[in-house]
Amino acid sequence: MDLGIAGRWALVCGASKGLGRGCAEALVSEGVNVLINARTEAPLRQTATELRAISARWTSAAGQKEPEVLAVACDITTPEGREAVWSAPGGPGRDFDIVLTNAGGPPTGDFRHFTSEDWQRAVNANMLTPIELIKAVVDGMAERGFGRILNITSSAVKAPIDILALSNGARSGLTGFVAGLARSGLAARGVTVNNLLPGKFDTDRLNATLEAAARKTGQSLAEVRQAQAAQVPARRFGTPAEFGALCAFVCSQQAGYLTGQNLLLDGGLYPGTF
Ligand code: NAD
Repeated sequence: MDLGIAGRWALVCGASKGLGRGCAEALVSEGVNVLINARTEAPLRQTATELRAISARWTSAAGQKEPEVLAVACDITTPEGREAVWSAPGGPGRDFDIVLTNAGGPPTGDFRHFTSEDWQRAVNANMLTPIELIKAVVDGMAERGFGRILNITSSAVKAPIDILALSNGARSGLTGFVAGLARSGLAARGVTVNNLLPGKFDTDRLNATLEAAARKTGQSLAEVRQAQAAQVPARRFGTPAEFGALCAFVCSQQAGYLTGQNLLLDGGLYPGTF
């Protein structure tokens, strides 16, 4: 299926690895120009090189040129980091058609040990940063008549995870904001806003969470991995490529009637009917 987004510009945050990278790969495969971001220069540059290899293989039935790949190493949770993205040479300024907000998840732990600063960092990274990014692009999208905003949140907003109190709390704030924003008249102007909720995906972040669980229970990492994968009805963890495929569809021309949703991708782990 042609998703009808070739030639669009996407900002993909937290994209040197993991889920962000999976989304960037899927978008470049659809002919979308991407500006990828992460904090550390070397792995980001390596990812950009690998995305350009995907771009070089892209062929367009309509004769469009191969997608561009730009990379900006910065901390997206800071005003300076966001400014670096908006002013990137060769980029579209703030005129992105697609914005995927994403950054590292907050640390695991017992909420009794978190300080006010820990909470402020989590709320900044997982709630306020997506809102700042959205604020910068959404009116331009509406004026141009097309926009796709996606936020990577977590299955923890539907089913909280005990050692992820910071994530449970901060991401729920973003979820409430998005629910209101998506219904504020944007869809009539071609702009959709949705959240993607990963369950357990095989990334460095998941490994860090599993290591914390292993420390807590005294089991080995391998035992925790096996036990947790066994709890998923799919009997495995998800892959960044599977996550990226959903992202690309939500960004598609065809998904213009899909807005304000929390799309859970978890191999069937969430036990509820809805
Ligand atoms: P990951 O650690 O594999 O990748 C995170 C990416 O974000 C990296 O490229 C990293 O460099 C970048 N990043 C981190 N902080 C940043 C910042 N301040 N500015 C710019 N870039 C930054 O993680 P992942 O598994 O891809 O997770 C992505 C998000 O999804 C996280 O918020 C995570 O908590 C959430 N999540 C993941 C899972 C899972 O199973 N993997 C489950 C639920 C939620």
